[in-house]
Amino acid sequence: MKATPKAEIVICGAGIIGLTIARALLSNGHKNIIVIDKEQNIASHASGRNSGVLHAGIYYAPGSLRAKSCLSGNFQMKEFCREKGIPVRQNGKVIVAREKSELETLHELYARASENGAKVEIIDEKRLAEIEPNAKTCGEALFSHYTAVVDPKLVMQALYAELEADKNIDIQLGNAFINADPVTNTIVTERGDIKCDLFINASGAYSDKVARWFGFSQKYKLIPFKGIYKKLKKGKEHLVNGSIYPVPNIKNPFLGIHFTKGASGDVYLGPTAIPAFGRENYGLLSGMDLGMPSILFQDMVLFFKNEKFRRIALDEPKKYFFSHFYSDARRLVKKIDPSDIENSPKVGIRPQLINCENNSLMMDFVVENDKKSIHILNSISPAFTGSMFFADMVVKNYID
Ligand SMILES: Cc1cc2nc3c(=O)[nH]c(=O)nc-3n(C[C@H](O)[C@H](O)[C@H](O)COP(=O)(O)OP(=O)(O)OC[C@H]3O[C@@H](n4cnc5c(N)ncnc54)[C@H](O)[C@@H]3O)c2cc1C
Repeated sequence: MKATPKAEIVICGAGIIGLTIARALLSNGHKNIIVIDKEQNIASHASGRNSGVLHAGIYYAPGSLRAKSCLSGNFQMKEFCREKGIPVRQNGKVIVAREKSELETLHELYARASENGAKVEIIDEKRLAEIEPNAKTCGEALFSHYTAVVDPKLVMQALYAELEADKNIDIQLGNAFINADPVTNTIVTERGDIKCDLFINASGAYSDKVARWFGFSQKYKLIPFKGIYKKLKKGKEHLVNGSIYPVPNIKNPFLGIHFTKGASGDVYLGPTAIPAFGRENYGLLSGMDLGMPSILFQDMVLFFKNEKFRRIALDEPKKYFFSHFYSDARRLVKKIDPSDIENSPKVGIRPQLINCENNSLMMDFVVENDKKSIHILNSISPAFTGSMFFADMVVKNYID
């Protein structure tokens, strides 16, 4: 009988979290690492479908994992891009107030950002006009210097290429995790069993399900939100220099429709955060699966028990209609015509962790672990930006 293959570490998920953890493990001298991913292609889910914004530590509660990892991760990611020759658009971003009542939150963001070490300024309308001539605000705006934009697919491909070249790691694309025996740490995959000393769960939208095989994520469940984008038509890109964001509701994990000039120069509007019916429900109906009834049930519970979710569930689906999407975008700029905007095929799913005990939306990354397994739950934005710093932290705090 063939012996079950053995690895020191198995990582489930070759998204940005799985790959940056693998990279951090290699640089700490770990060997015999296997990464499995159910998809044949790298960057098939959130890590290849995001806005590519390298956030700069503005929104996150000081002391949270998101705050700790964002700015340092931003610098590490920029350095990685420089090394690999990946273009970085370093235009900064402005956050504008759509009405006077938002100025208080704008100042709260300034205070949070300063505490998080970000380089930010409160600017007046004259200075805003110099940075972003088409942006509109009510008296004041916030300017973030370190915000930048990259093409997330290029980052993922460069990371994959670097890791593939290392003999201490085996990345198995098209090999799904099926289940596990946590007593023997045997991982059952589509291509057979693998034994390991340590299992790392970086499976994004499925990390709650994978974690349950190890007895973790008992009180949590991920529910999906759909991020739809639109685009400025060719010839209209001059309307935006960098990124224009609204003042968000900081009790809410989503930032509202905004403009982002991507690394290629295209300007994207969005993304939305519409409750979705499946963890891969990228189309209107596609990606709905057997998990749909349970997601709908969870959405219903939240609708009645969580005011924040209720507001999202009532507001966001309206953005399927162009007039609503447009009127949100319109409030951020002086000049834009509906005919300047076209649909974009870009769409992503943001999995959001819910604490089922109190029906709250978790606002930070969550890590659960024991000696044999580590589970990264709730890798919400800015997990792409902060990934390299976060990966170092996981290795330092939970492994070495
Ligand atoms: C629309 C949108 C916009 C965003 N914008 C930004 C932004 O501008 N800046 C930023 O910093 N962050 C942004 N984010 C967040 C960021 O993209 C995510 O935080 C990050 O990509 C999460 O990475 P991940 O590796 O955890 O997940 P993923 O990229 O989803 O990777 C998880 C991997 O696990 C694999 N997997 C799942 N189940 C299994 C299984 N059973 N067996 C094997 N493999 C499995 C999947 O195939 C996938 O490849 C955005 C996200 C979205 C959706």
